Amino acid sequence: MKAVISGSFDPITRGHVDIICRADRLFDELVVGVAVNSAKNGIFSMEERVDLVEAAVAGMPRVSVAPVEGLLVDFCADQGADVIVRGLRFGGDFDYELQMAHLNKSMSGIETVLLPAGREYGTISSSVIRSAASNGGDVSEFVPEAVARALRAKFPTVRE
Ligand code: ADP
Repeated sequence: MKAVISGSFDPITRGHVDIICRADRLFDELVVGVAVNSAKNGIFSMEERVDLVEAAVAGMPRVSVAPVEGLLVDFCADQGADVIVRGLRFGGDFDYELQMAHLNKSMSGIETVLLPAGREYGTISSSVIRSAASNGGDVSEFVPEAVARALRAKFPTVRE
């Protein structure tokens, strides 16, 4: 079975990598769909986000990465994917994910599988990483090495 895991990955965190690794064990093929980022406080361009996700999944041969430009369900149909995978963190994710799962199911019949966030990563979000890094914080514990490097290049005040 082929699955799509979608998100804006601005930037990809160790929480995302954990979900991707676990989904990789559950499905035959996995496509990481990098969505256009509608957040006003985005940091990385689509090209940079795709490159950073590719670096993070380099050791996973069944995982591919592609940009998502329109509706996620259309992307899934183009990819021939049967399932959408999303991670579920503590607190606020559930209501939103349930709405999206129902909407995507109504629009195309596709099912969504929600994987619980890893215990170590359930409170990490790309938005707190963006906010800490842009103010000079060292977030290297929470992101893959290539992301830590890219953040230091973008914000030279980031401490090591
Ligand atoms: P979006 O921009 O759609 O919110 P994100 O890039 O923030 O997407 O996240 C993509 C997916 O990864 C979502 O399903 C989200 O719940 C999940 N996710 C984000 N951070 C974590 C984490 N720390 N642990 C597990 N799943 C996560």
